[in-house]
Amino acid sequence: MKHFLLFISFTFYIASAYTQPQWQQKVNTIIGVTLDDKSNFLYGYEEFTYTNSSPDTLRYIFIHLWANGYLNDHTPFAKQKDAFGDTKFYYSKTSDRGYIDSLQFVVDGKNADYNSSANTPDIARLDLPYPLLPGKEIKISTPFRVKIPIVFSRLGHSGQAYFISQWFPKPAVYDTKGWHLLPYLDYGEFFSEYGSYDVTITLPKNYIVMATGNCTNKEENEWLDSLAATPLPSDTLYSRSYPASSNTMKSLHFHEDRVHDFAWFADKRWIVRKDTVTSPGNQQLVTAYAAFLPAHQEKWLKATNYLKTTVAHYGKWVGPYEYKTIKAVEGDMLAGGGMEYPTVTIIDRSALSMLQTTVVHEAGHNWFYGMLGTNERDHAWMDEGINTFYEQKTDQAIKKDSIPSFQKKATDLNDLLYYEAVAIHNDQAIDQTAINFTKLNYGADVYYKTALMLRWLESYMGEKAFEDGMHEYYATWRYHHPYPEDLQAILQKHTNKNIDWFFSGALHTDKKVDFKVTDVHTHGQQVDISVKNNSGIVAPVKLEIHGKDKTTYCWVPPFNGRAEMDSVGVDDTWSSVKIADEIPDAKTDNNVYRRNALFHTFKLALRPIFGSNRINADKLFYSPAFGYNHYDGFMVGILLHDLTIPENRFRFAIAPMYGTGSNSFAFAGSVGYFWYPGNLFKEILLQIDAKSFKYAQADLNLNKPIYAGYTKVAPFLEFTFNEHNLLSPVRRTLTLKTYNITEDVFAYSSDSIPSLHQQQKSYGLVRYKHDNTRAYNPFDYSIETQMGEDFAKINAEANIRIDYFKKDKALYARFYAGKFIAINNDPAIVQRYYLNSTFIAANDYLYDGTYYGRTQTSGVDAQQISMQEGGLKIPTQNNIGRSDNYMLALNLKSDLPINLPIRLFVDVCNYADPSSPNGNSKILYDGGIEFHLSKDALLVTIPLIMSDNFINYLDNTFGASNAFGRSITFSMKLSSNWLRFTEEVLKDAEK
Ligand SMILES: [Zn+2]
Repeated sequence: MKHFLLFISFTFYIASAYTQPQWQQKVNTIIGVTLDDKSNFLYGYEEFTYTNSSPDTLRYIFIHLWANGYLNDHTPFAKQKDAFGDTKFYYSKTSDRGYIDSLQFVVDGKNADYNSSANTPDIARLDLPYPLLPGKEIKISTPFRVKIPIVFSRLGHSGQAYFISQWFPKPAVYDTKGWHLLPYLDYGEFFSEYGSYDVTITLPKNYIVMATGNCTNKEENEWLDSLAATPLPSDTLYSRSYPASSNTMKSLHFHEDRVHDFAWFADKRWIVRKDTVTSPGNQQLVTAYAAFLPAHQEKWLKATNYLKTTVAHYGKWVGPYEYKTIKAVEGDMLAGGGMEYPTVTIIDRSALSMLQTTVVHEAGHNWFYGMLGTNERDHAWMDEGINTFYEQKTDQAIKKDSIPSFQKKATDLNDLLYYEAVAIHNDQAIDQTAINFTKLNYGADVYYKTALMLRWLESYMGEKAFEDGMHEYYATWRYHHPYPEDLQAILQKHTNKNIDWFFSGALHTDKKVDFKVTDVHTHGQQVDISVKNNSGIVAPVKLEIHGKDKTTYCWVPPFNGRAEMDSVGVDDTWSSVKIADEIPDAKTDNNVYRRNALFHTFKLALRPIFGSNRINADKLFYSPAFGYNHYDGFMVGILLHDLTIPENRFRFAIAPMYGTGSNSFAFAGSVGYFWYPGNLFKEILLQIDAKSFKYAQADLNLNKPIYAGYTKVAPFLEFTFNEHNLLSPVRRTLTLKTYNITEDVFAYSSDSIPSLHQQQKSYGLVRYKHDNTRAYNPFDYSIETQMGEDFAKINAEANIRIDYFKKDKALYARFYAGKFIAINNDPAIVQRYYLNSTFIAANDYLYDGTYYGRTQTSGVDAQQISMQEGGLKIPTQNNIGRSDNYMLALNLKSDLPINLPIRLFVDVCNYADPSSPNGNSKILYDGGIEFHLSKDALLVTIPLIMSDNFINYLDNTFGASNAFGRSITFSMKLSSNWLRFTEEVLKDAEK
C-alpha cells in the first residue's frame, strides 16, 4: 500500500514536556476526628508535614477549606448551582448548610495568620512565620470543626448516614506552573499533593466505616469479617429510620501511603461483603469490600465482582493496583452517580440501574486520579475522559466474555449527547478548565467525547503501541502530577506516526468531525480513493474496503481538505468503501461509498416513529398522525419527518391528514434549514410553515353543513444571536416572517343559502425577542411589528417572574403596550385587526395558534384564549375591549403558599375605545383563580371579579344563569417550533 497525499508536515516540538517527573511537594497528614451524630459536627485536630521540594522559597501556603463552599450564597459552589438552575442550595435553611471553623494554625510551634476573601471562603492563605526554604519541611497544625451539611454535593449527611469528603484543611498544589487554587465546585474536581495519611476516627460503636486506606484495628477488621459472613437479611425493606447509636464509642485508625486525599463514609445499616483479588503485574493481594443498604442487596451482591474485574482489567491495560484494599459503598451523595476517593468510592442510588458501569468507573479512578494524580480541574479529561475510555473497554470485555457474539453497538446513548451538541453547534473543546463547560457538555465532552477521541487515537497508533505507551505513562508518572504534554511525549515514543493532531487538534476543537469518501476508481488490483475531511482540523481517517471475501483496512495519515489514496492489493470484487466505525464521525449518512449504487453515498432508510441518526443512511421516519378541531373533527393521517438525534441541518415534518368531520383533507407541515455561521449569529433558520384546516361551518338552510377553510404558507428567517459564551442564559432572536393566507368566506344569496368564495391575504412580521432563563427572576421582552395592506400594529411585551424565597413560588408580572394604525379607513374591513383586551381564536388572523374552535361562539371550544395583547381572561364576541388606537395592560398572578396547582390573578387594561365618540380611554379588569397543569402547558382560569362591561356582556349574551360558565377559559402552550423537537426535549431533560 502506498500513499499519495496532500502532505502536511509537522515539526516535532513539544513545549515543556517531560518524560520524567520533575520535583513535587509532599504532604504527610495526621488527623484525629470525632463525629457528633446528634448535631452533625466533626471535631478534629490535624497536623501535617509539608516538604518543599521546589526550587522556590515559600512565604505562604494556600490551604483549601472546601467545607466552606456550603457557607453562603456567594461561594463559587453556590454560584455554579445557580447557573445550572439547581435551586436546592439557594432555598436551603442555614441550619442545613455547612462550614469549617475553629481554625488556629500553628507552624513549627508559632501561631500563624490566615485570611481568605469573602467570595472564596474555601481558600485561605496561610502566612508562614518564616520563609520555607527549598528542600526544607515544616509542621503545620490546627484544630478544626466541620458543620456537616445535608447532601447538596459531596460532603454531607443524610440522616445518620455520613459522607465525609473534602472535609479537612488541605494545602493547594504548588508545582512548576505555580499555585493551583481551586474553589469547591459541584462540576469541577480537585488536585492535591501526595503523601501519607494517618486518620483516627472516633464515633459510636455500631457504625460501619469505609475509608481511604487500611484499618489497623484488629477488632474492627474481625467485626467486618463477621458481617461479611452474615447471611443476607430476609427483610430488605428500605427504611429511613436508623438504628439508635451505641453509647459506647470506638476509635478506628486508618493508614495509607502515596495517596492525595482521604475520605470516609459511615452508616449503621449497611450489609458488608468481602472478597479478594490478585492484582496483575505485582501479584498484590487486594481485599475488595462492598457496603450497601439491605433494600438494594440483589444488585449490590455483585459489586465485589465489579471491583475485582476493575483491578484485573485496568491492571492489565494500565498498570498494577498498588493498594491493599478497594471498596465501594452505597450512599446518597449527589455526584452524578458516584464519586471517587483513594481506595474507596461512593455510589449513589441513581446509579442502581447501571451499577456495574458505575462501580467500574469509580473504582477505575484509582488509576486515573488516584495513582495518576492529574489536575482534574483544568484538564478534567485526563481523569474522567481516559477513565471513561477504560471503563467502556472493561464493559466490552465483560460482555465479550459472557456473550460470545458480542459486537459493540454503533453508538452509545451517552455518545449521542455529544453528537447532538456538535450537530447544533453547542459543543466545546475537551481540554479546558471545568468551569467553562455547560452542565451537559461536562458529561458529553469531558467523558464521552474524550473516550471517542481516544478510541480514534488508539486505533491510529495500534492497540499494542497504545497499550505500551499507557504502561510507560503509568510507570513513569505514578504518584505524580502529569499534564497533557507529558502524556503526549510518552505516547509519541511508542509510535513513528505523528500524534500531534490529537493533542493539538482533537483535544482543542469544537468542530464537527466529518469525513466523506467522494470518489473511488478501480484499475485492476489498484483502487484510487478520494476522501474529504470536512472537520476543519488536521486528522487521520481509517477506511474499510469491503470485498466479497475480505475487508481491507487502510489509514489516510493526518490531512485536511481533500486527499487521494491509492490502494493496491484490494480485492477487485469490492462493493463499498466505508469510514471505519472507530472514527468519531459526527455525520454518518455520508460515510459509505457504494460501488453499484446510482447515488454512491446516498441511501434512504425508512424507519418507524423516531430514532437515532447514527446509521449510514438518510432517515425518513413515519408514524400515524392524529388531530382534532371543531370543524374537521378527528383527523387521521401520516406524519413523515426526519427529526432525529443528532439533528440534521435540513429538517422537515409534514402531516397530511383526513378530517372525519369535514370529510376533507387537512395538512400541517414545516420544512427548515439551519445554518451556524458562528459570528454575529449563532444560528440562522430559514423555515416554511404551511397548514390547511377548516375554521368555520355554515348549516343554515342546508341539508349538510359546508365548511370554510384556510391555507397558510408562512416562510420566515429566524436569526439567533451569539452570546458571549455557551453558559449564558440569554437567547436573543430576530424573526422576519411573511404570511400568505387563502381563506374561504361565506357569502349568502338572497334566499340566505351560504356559498363559499375565497380571499387572499398577505402580512409581514418583524419581531425581536430577548429571553433570559436565569434560575431566579427570569424575564423576557419582545417588540414586534405586524403589517397588512389595511393596517399596521406594534406590540411590546415584557414578562418577569419574581421569585419568593421558596422553591416554585413566585409573582408573575406581564406588561403589554400596543399601538394600532389603520391604513384602510373602512372599519368594517379593518376592525378584524384591532387590538384585543382578551385574545380569542377569532383574533388570530395570522393563524399562528392552535385553536379547537376558531369561530365557535358556544361550547368548550369557544372558551379557548391566548396570552396575547391585553391578556385579559373574559372572551367576548363583540367589540368590547377592542381598540383601533392604543392598548396598555398589566397582568399579575401569584403562587400561593399551598401545595396545589392554583394561583390568583388580576389583569387590568387601558385602551382607546373606538365605540365612544372621541375614542375615550377605557379601563377593563378581571381577577380570579388560575389552575395550572403540566408545567403551565394548560391553564384554566375562573374569574371572580370583573368590570361591569364584562358582567353586562355575559348577562346579556348568555343569560345570568350561564354567565359564570361562559367566563371560564383555558389556554394552552404548545411547542414553539416542531423542527426544534429534539432540542427542546433534551433541554427539558437537562433540567
Ligand atoms: Zn469519574
